[in-house]
Amino acid sequence: LSCGVLLATLPAAAQNSYRYALDLNALRNDVLTVDLQTPKVSAASATFSMPKIIPGTYIIADYGKFIHDVQAFDAAGKALPVKQLNVNQWRISGSNRMTRIRYQVEDIFDAVGVKHQVYPMCATNFEPGKNFSLNFPGLLGYLEGVRNIPFDVQIAKPEGMWASTSLEPVSTDAKTDRFSAPNLDELYNYPVMYTLPDTATVQVGNCQVLVSVYAPGKQVHAAQIAGWMGDLLDAARQYLGGRLPADRYAFLYYFHEKGAKHSFPPGLGGALEHPTSSFYYLQEAPAEQLKDGIVDMSSHEFFHIITPLTISSREVKEFNFDKAVMSRHLWLYEGVTEYTAHHVQVKYGLIPPQQFLDRLAQKITYSRSAFIDTLAFTELSTGATDKWAAQYGNV
Ligand SMILES: [Zn+2]
Repeated sequence: LSCGVLLATLPAAAQNSYRYALDLNALRNDVLTVDLQTPKVSAASATFSMPKIIPGTYIIADYGKFIHDVQAFDAAGKALPVKQLNVNQWRISGSNRMTRIRYQVEDIFDAVGVKHQVYPMCATNFEPGKNFSLNFPGLLGYLEGVRNIPFDVQIAKPEGMWASTSLEPVSTDAKTDRFSAPNLDELYNYPVMYTLPDTATVQVGNCQVLVSVYAPGKQVHAAQIAGWMGDLLDAARQYLGGRLPADRYAFLYYFHEKGAKHSFPPGLGGALEHPTSSFYYLQEAPAEQLKDGIVDMSSHEFFHIITPLTISSREVKEFNFDKAVMSRHLWLYEGVTEYTAHHVQVKYGLIPPQQFLDRLAQKITYSRSAFIDTLAFTELSTGATDKWAAQYGNV
């Protein structure tokens, strides 16, 4: 009671935050309108940005390519001058009066006429009635210098669709989910996949693991993958000393049909790691054919929790979303993670020793035949987005 009285006497100062609203039911011509109630800005001009590059990726994404018609308004609804500075940034004049930003965003999966390098596992997909894959770097921007305040995101969802993510909603009902992240870096850590539910959960030691699957051909289901991952994660738990490094984890799998008309290079698939989830973009096939690949890849993404998501250099910890600043440590982030992903399997009897050795031999052969094997990984790492991009596969 005393707490309530105390609160009532405080001035009603709203916490400074970003308040985003999206309505997935309001998709028009494959485009969503994003509405942002902006945080208070005292400067007379401000820059609104979409990320150029995101952690865990070594390509220039330029998410601004998919954003159109950026508008800013004051409290009276009067439009403020907006000038696009480059592919990812917009200058807003009169930002000390700004209360709203509104823009259009198209999804990346089936973008037409846009040349881009975004990996599918960190791209966006709007497929009404089927799947909305929301990787927030492709949807939600930020004001320069205003990264460390909460981002609230309200999403109106289509009937029957369910949000798969490791981010616990602030509130949820049949029509709307509300999420909140304490800052921009955290917001970008959580992909959210809306689908008609095909999900399974497994408890592995201290960790509740969600597996969510979108597979249009229904050839593979969440329960199958959860079965495979249960054994692997229990091995990982033992490997890491008895406790998994997260209490919640979500594996989000998007399977595309063979020959899907997507904007990515043919055959490109993969996954991207986040601290408590990972997002996969793979071609659908019968479950048994997919099994080994999925287990290896999921193991790899999971072990990324150790590095770079926990152990990393300053370039990763203080990530620059506006330009590519690469560290020297790809050998650690990708090399050690990949080794661990396989070593855990042989150490706890999921694969026989010979298979482990065969996999290593294969990697060594591939490294020598397809790449410049004398190039130091530290050098490859600093040039991974430009000079040495073609050598990235070696790590
Ligand atoms: Zn990796």
